[in-house]
Amino acid sequence: MSTAAPAIDTDRIRSLDAAHHWHPFTDTKALNAEGTRVIVKAEGSLLWDSKGNEILDGMAGLWCVNVGYGRKELAEAASRQMMALPYYNTFFKTTNVPATELAAKLAELTPDGLNYAFFANSGSEANDTIVRMVRHFWQLRGKPNKKTLISREFAYHGSTMIATSLGGMTAMHAQVDMPLPGFSHIRPPYFVRDGGNMTEEEFGIAAAQALEDRIQELGADTIAAFIAEPIQGAGGVIIPPASYFPEIQRICRNHDILFIVDEVITGFGRTGNWFASQTFDLQPDMMTLAKGLSSGYAPISAVMVGERVAKTLIEEGGEFYHGFTYSGHPVACAVALENLRIIEAEGLVERARSDTGPYLQDGLRSLADHPLVGEVRGVGMIGALELVKDKDGPVFFDPIGRVGTICRDHCFANNLVMRAVRDAMVCSPPLVITRPEIDRLVSTLKLCLDRTYADI
Ligand SMILES: *Cc1c(COP(=O)(O)O)cnc(C)c1O
Repeated sequence: MSTAAPAIDTDRIRSLDAAHHWHPFTDTKALNAEGTRVIVKAEGSLLWDSKGNEILDGMAGLWCVNVGYGRKELAEAASRQMMALPYYNTFFKTTNVPATELAAKLAELTPDGLNYAFFANSGSEANDTIVRMVRHFWQLRGKPNKKTLISREFAYHGSTMIATSLGGMTAMHAQVDMPLPGFSHIRPPYFVRDGGNMTEEEFGIAAAQALEDRIQELGADTIAAFIAEPIQGAGGVIIPPASYFPEIQRICRNHDILFIVDEVITGFGRTGNWFASQTFDLQPDMMTLAKGLSSGYAPISAVMVGERVAKTLIEEGGEFYHGFTYSGHPVACAVALENLRIIEAEGLVERARSDTGPYLQDGLRSLADHPLVGEVRGVGMIGALELVKDKDGPVFFDPIGRVGTICRDHCFANNLVMRAVRDAMVCSPPLVITRPEIDRLVSTLKLCLDRTYADI
């Protein structure tokens, strides 16, 4: 394809954007002073801006474009469905074919027992739905005091009021008097920061013990559920030691607390299995899906509900007073179905597990000797470099986040999209990224680490 960008009046878009478009998670004043980059097209793992720069997308958009950009099949699936049935609701004893087919397909792909899909439009809405379901579940079980959900520091579960409360981002909480009552947070299994003299194995058990301690502090009769991302994505690609989740699951079972996994980032091949629940051998009661479900081509999310919760809510719950106008939207469902077909047909899960996934991990590990890199971590098509002041310790930077931002800006200036979380450089490229593109990602990142090192 031609790399020439279509003629776009960048200055006009920038000034209109500054005047009228309020961006999410953005310091608008700072953005308007600098001017935004206008992205005009994309193909595979590459983006082009309005000035004709070719940019390697190391983040798959926002961790979501698993099958890569420019997929005609997805556009055609949307177009076919729009012509046949662009919209109809699923509230009033009606369904549509793609919503039903997608629910059945997700029941087949997700771990055993997760047999019902409730559709929404975003990860945040799916997590809101989960909170409603688990509280209603415990009411029906005759334990209405089991209301509190326990989550973790640095968890990201979305940005509605409930999803923000569920998440563990203190800066998000501080602006709006969060969390709401009924949400409690424990430490994350962040080994490089908190491991001290422990082995990874010992630390995993200690981090899980925080759940038991909190349950005992609050009383198991008040705790509804524990929710975790298998790998904390937006929190900095925090990967738990192998000993962590077996202990977490044992504690949840012992205290009769529902175990929920948020697979919004880790689902659909990211970790080299369809779901990270398979990678980490998890048996969740419920699961949150979004992002890679449609590879970002249409807004859609799903709550997968396991047998225990589904049975009670369905057999005893009567009408569940919850839903969205676009729950089971036929176009979004048709796109998601086609997206899953592509992932299967092209073996993208397998590729993340045993081909380009390990190649990416080797590439990132080749940077471990760099003086700024305190830890390299990752699995499949997700990874992070923790930048530190001193490898010995390691000693983290103070203030936290400044050096990560410098490195992120170097990457952006060198046409590589990566994200900085605190001082961790994180990546989560499309599952279709090629070996030469991974080489480019790693060599650009190395250059940017060198420049960052020179700057500080
Ligand atoms: C992005 C994300 C969400 C929120 O999804 P939205 O579609 O932005 O509402 C929830 N959980 C995790 C793990 C996420 O990464």
